Amino acid sequence: MNLILLGPPGAGKGTQAKMLEDKFGIAQISTGDMLRAEVKSGSEIGLRAKGIMERGELVPDEVITAMLKARVARPDCAKGFILDGFPRTAPQAASLDSMLKESGLKLDHVIELKVDDAALVGRISGRFSCAKCGVGYHDSFKQPAKAGVCDSCGGTEFSRRADDKAETVAARLEAYHRQTAPLLPYYAGQGKLKAVDGMASMAEVARQIGEILSGKA
Ligand code: ADP
Ligand code: ZN
Repeated sequence: MNLILLGPPGAGKGTQAKMLEDKFGIAQISTGDMLRAEVKSGSEIGLRAKGIMERGELVPDEVITAMLKARVARPDCAKGFILDGFPRTAPQAASLDSMLKESGLKLDHVIELKVDDAALVGRISGRFSCAKCGVGYHDSFKQPAKAGVCDSCGGTEFSRRADDKAETVAARLEAYHRQTAPLLPYYAGQGKLKAVDGMASMAEVARQIGEILSGKA
């Protein structure tokens, strides 16, 4: 099963992708996470991407597409993948189409997480994650059960993304509306687009996605 999760920053794509990964044994591919790993390691791609990401702009298509191509060839994608944060531009969507075609794969669903912009700034600016396992938390909506200790792995170190500041969030939303939202009609035209209510609880969003995957929605 090959899926795309589409939606603005803070829509909850990462949370849902992780749940789907656990449930179906398909790989979560987050281009944002991959880029942050490149930045951390100080690689050539990381050096190129760092400033762009901190300004809330998009990394050039050819860098992203090459990175993705190598990623989907890895063995953990054998049962399928969930794309989280890719494609983000029309050229990326076109590259994905030809990549899939070359490997004889197809997309099963493109799932849009619908949310309103006003809620996103609050969601994003309060979020943090476990430095060890990556599970996400939020200052107001989802603190760990025991303060300072990760529910999932017991880790005690947390981190906040450099681009989760209010100023940068506005630029990221702008990039979404201008460059990524036009992909919605593109996938609707392929008959693949389904929408879920990204303003609902995490469990409810997961339920709605489950209905789509089982063919009930
Ligand atoms: P979010 O969806 O919450 O904004 P991501 O973690 O998906 O965050 O991405 C963070 C940043 O990484 C983006 O703002 C952008 O600079 C870069 N990035 C991630 N994926 C892509 C992509 N497919 N194309 C271009 N840039 C990307
Ligand atoms: Zn953890």
